[in-house]
Amino acid sequence: MSLNIEKIRSMFPVLHQEVHGRPLIYFDNAATTQKPKSVIDALSRYYEFDNANIHRGAHALADRATRYFENTRESIRDFINAREEAEIIFTKGTTESINLVAATFGRKFIHKGDEILISTMEHHSNIVPWQMLCEEKEAILKVIPITEEGEIIWESFLQLLTEKTKLVSIVHASNALGTINPIKNIVAKAHEVGAKVLIDGAQSTSHLDINVQELDCDFLAFSAHKLYGPTGLGVLYGKREVLEIMPPYQGGGEMIKEVSFENTTFNEIPFKFEAGTPNIGDVIAFKKSLDFIKEIGKSDIKSHEDDLLQYAANGLNEIKGFIPVGTAKEKVSVISFNIQGMHPFDVGMMLDAKGIAVRTGHHCTQPLMQRFGLEGTVRASFAVYNSKSEIDQLVESVARIAKIKN
Ligand code: PLP
Repeated sequence: MSLNIEKIRSMFPVLHQEVHGRPLIYFDNAATTQKPKSVIDALSRYYEFDNANIHRGAHALADRATRYFENTRESIRDFINAREEAEIIFTKGTTESINLVAATFGRKFIHKGDEILISTMEHHSNIVPWQMLCEEKEAILKVIPITEEGEIIWESFLQLLTEKTKLVSIVHASNALGTINPIKNIVAKAHEVGAKVLIDGAQSTSHLDINVQELDCDFLAFSAHKLYGPTGLGVLYGKREVLEIMPPYQGGGEMIKEVSFENTTFNEIPFKFEAGTPNIGDVIAFKKSLDFIKEIGKSDIKSHEDDLLQYAANGLNEIKGFIPVGTAKEKVSVISFNIQGMHPFDVGMMLDAKGIAVRTGHHCTQPLMQRFGLEGTVRASFAVYNSKSEIDQLVESVARIAKIKN
């Protein structure tokens, strides 16, 4: 089914503006997506009518805010097909979700000599927490290498996976290359050696259908702002049996059952991991993002984005001096590239002058850039509201820029 893109675009106020005298073309969706009006309205409605602290109030507003807040948890459960709402923990974002696992699961279950396995294409937020943990615990961080196309080398993964591996923490879809990793097979193999698996779903959740029960992952981390939702809000999904044996993350209100100076008992999951007043307004508004995605349908979103990706690749590959970075067979709608003889930043600036927003640089994946011997790339990433006519303008602009040096 082909989507009514004009109708979808009309839901996003930010798209209807000019930048440098040109209509905005927003291709920086892997960094953050734009927000539909329904999300913006839900946020202001909360502050206008429902603002109250949740879970312990004895008045109508507190009751309403709690209900709306917990409704979002249920929507997220449904979105990733978790077994129960207790497996959904609110965080600040993917970064905090990963840090939570490092600080709790890591603190209790990673010991001297244990191994943690990541890949070359990880975002810094799925590298640094493990480096910090490994240093503290005298554990070892191992890295799965990738091919020139940007795919993990399966044989190397199998070789690196041993009885010593306690955790495999891996990105589902690369933000810098677009590569989709064979995550279900990775989880199955990791489980054979008894390792737990954390999936960094920051990029995959907006493009692919995610079913945590089918994937059988132990953890899934993702951010609302890459899913047409608010910034500063994320999710950690964890299997109940794993979450229950993990120590709490931060101490404070909400995460306790009873406190005395002699002995404190902790709350049930998910509240055990949600100390303090959460980001109530944004959580409530996030439900509207999930409603938006559900209404269009993940499979229609995916086929539209696949179409855009193919269309853009066809056009860009024709350009003399265009160098694609990351040509995996399975990709989300991300195109990373360089122009022969030009710095990515300069290309980004020239595109911006045409109203086209892309990202340039290392994309928080410096080790990946080092793997390709690059300082950075230009990245165009597409979302459901992007159109082929916008891509025509990207291709035309890139062709003009490339001509300067090629
Ligand atoms: N992992 C990947 C693959 C990402 O693309 C990002 C953000 O760009 C992150 C993790 C970190 O997400 P956040 O900054 O929302 O915590």
